[in-house]
Amino acid sequence: MEFRAIPKETVVLNPKKDMARRSIPSEIRFDPLTGRSARICHFMKLKWEKPDFEKMVAGTDAWCPFCPERVMDVTPAFPEEILPEGRMVFEDMVLFPNIAPYDSLGAVATMAGSHYIPMTEFTTERIAKAFGLAMDFFRQVRDINHPESVYHIINWNYMPVSGSSIIHPHLQVFATSTAPDLMRRELQAARAYRKSKGSNYWEDLVRSETDSGDRYLGRIGRTTWLTAYAPIGVAGDVLAVVDDVSSTMELTSDDLISIAEGLRNAMAAYDKMGIYSFNMNFFTGSVGDAFTRFHLLFSPRTFFNQALGTPDIGALRNLFNETLCMAFPEEINQMLKEHF
Ligand SMILES: [Zn+2]
Repeated sequence: MEFRAIPKETVVLNPKKDMARRSIPSEIRFDPLTGRSARICHFMKLKWEKPDFEKMVAGTDAWCPFCPERVMDVTPAFPEEILPEGRMVFEDMVLFPNIAPYDSLGAVATMAGSHYIPMTEFTTERIAKAFGLAMDFFRQVRDINHPESVYHIINWNYMPVSGSSIIHPHLQVFATSTAPDLMRRELQAARAYRKSKGSNYWEDLVRSETDSGDRYLGRIGRTTWLTAYAPIGVAGDVLAVVDDVSSTMELTSDDLISIAEGLRNAMAAYDKMGIYSFNMNFFTGSVGDAFTRFHLLFSPRTFFNQALGTPDIGALRNLFNETLCMAFPEEINQMLKEHF
């Protein structure tokens, strides 16, 4: 496993110290699988102020389409050839078609009847049950042999900073025959790795990271939790890899509980930094893709300038797809580890 990095150094003259020379380090890292580059730079203390959540949330329940008093009246239903009952309901959670589809078979699943759940108040059980509801939908589209039943993906945008337009906790649940960009690149690279090295990249990664320990967080059931070597998020990413599983469809209910528990740990750890928003994506192969392993990325979202509301994505990331992380992932690992 090659963890390639190019260290860089910038020299500036400091006006507050008689123009003394000052050296500022940075580093460019390359993801060992895809070669995607990520910059470690802009070093700052990973500490943000939490806003007044009561103020942020106030009034948003009055128009929320996902609240229990409205959800069955305003959300669309699936046609009978996809889901005879129209929507799926499990306890206080509802799954229905995404009214803003980005593929032909997309759903949204509410994770609760309550309009707002603080990040640290999600229980393992609730997260696992919401994933379970999504799995029921995936099994349904598989059972009807829907042509999009190839990659089964759950994404989670939590709170507006992450790109979520609704406070009410919900998951994006979709099945697609067209793998999203980074997932497709990873699948291609994992297939090529298997061909050239004769082993599974993800198994090699887990072994290497478990042995070195620099980015290892812990193990829950058959999931291994790591901080990503070349993170996408400005405060690092948490990566979980599930042993022996290539596709979402192979996850067991025990796996869902392990995943939920690890996500809770990540949320608790980032909450300590004042972060209250994140993206989480499933990265999956299709059934039988033995060259890959199911994994997920949890990426905290925050601001470059919180007072101005400056998002943590600028031109470098938006147009070059070059990422910035404001601390070394190995240091972030130390901040997260006590929660795993
Ligand atoms: Zn609501």
